[in-house]
Amino acid sequence: MVFTLAIDGPAAAGKGTISKAVAAHFGYAHLDTGLLYRAVGQRMLAGEEPIEAARSLAAEDLEHPDLRTVEAAQAASKVAVIPEVRAALLDFQRTFAQRMGGAVLDGRDIGTVICPNADVKLYVTASDEARAGRRHKELQERGRDISFETVLAELQERDARDSARSEAPLKPADDAVLLDTSDLSIDEAVARAVAEIEKKTHA
Ligand code: C5P
Repeated sequence: MVFTLAIDGPAAAGKGTISKAVAAHFGYAHLDTGLLYRAVGQRMLAGEEPIEAARSLAAEDLEHPDLRTVEAAQAASKVAVIPEVRAALLDFQRTFAQRMGGAVLDGRDIGTVICPNADVKLYVTASDEARAGRRHKELQERGRDISFETVLAELQERDARDSARSEAPLKPADDAVLLDTSDLSIDEAVARAVAEIEKKTHA
C-alpha cells in the first residue's frame, strides 16, 4: 500500500514530534526533510559549494552530530533558497513518499511541491512565543546557553526567509488541514493528526 502523509509548517511548530508519533502509530516510514537541508547547510559551513553538496549528499551526511544546532538551521534556510539545491533533493523525497507501507514526510513544501497528491496534508502551526519557548527548552536541555529572545529572533528570521523565497515557499497547501498546537499537549496534537488520517483511510 502506498499512502503519503505530508506535514508542513514553520520551525518548531511540532511537526517532527507529530510525524514521529504518527509514523510509529501506523507503522509508516518517516523522513524529516529538514535534515537534508541541514546536512547541505552543514557542508556549506565546512566550505563546500551548496549545489555540489546537495548533488553529492550521502547517508552519512545525515549522521553529522551538529545538524540540530542553531547554526545548522540558519545555514539550512540559506541553502534552501537555491533552486538547484531543492532540485537535487527532489527525487529522493518523492521516491521515499512512494514507499510501500506508508510514508510521512515533514518539511515546508511537502504538500505543495514534493507530494501535491499526498493522501493527507497537515499544516502544523503555533504562536511564535509557543514555538520559541519549546525550542528554547530543548536547546537548554542539550546544554546550550541561549536566551529566549535569541531563539525567538532566530525562528522569526528563518520563517521570514522560508516564506519569502520564490521557490517552494513555506505556505499551507490549499487542501491542507490546519493544526494549531499553541495550546495543545503533544498527546492532543498527535491524537488530532491520527484522527485526520483515520478519517481519510476509513472514508
Ligand atoms: O525543519 P527544519 O527546521 O529542520 O528545517 C531547516 C530548514 O530547512 C528550514 O528553515 C527551511 O529553510 C529548510 N527546509 C525547506 N524545505 C523542507 C524542509 C526544510 O526549505 N521541506
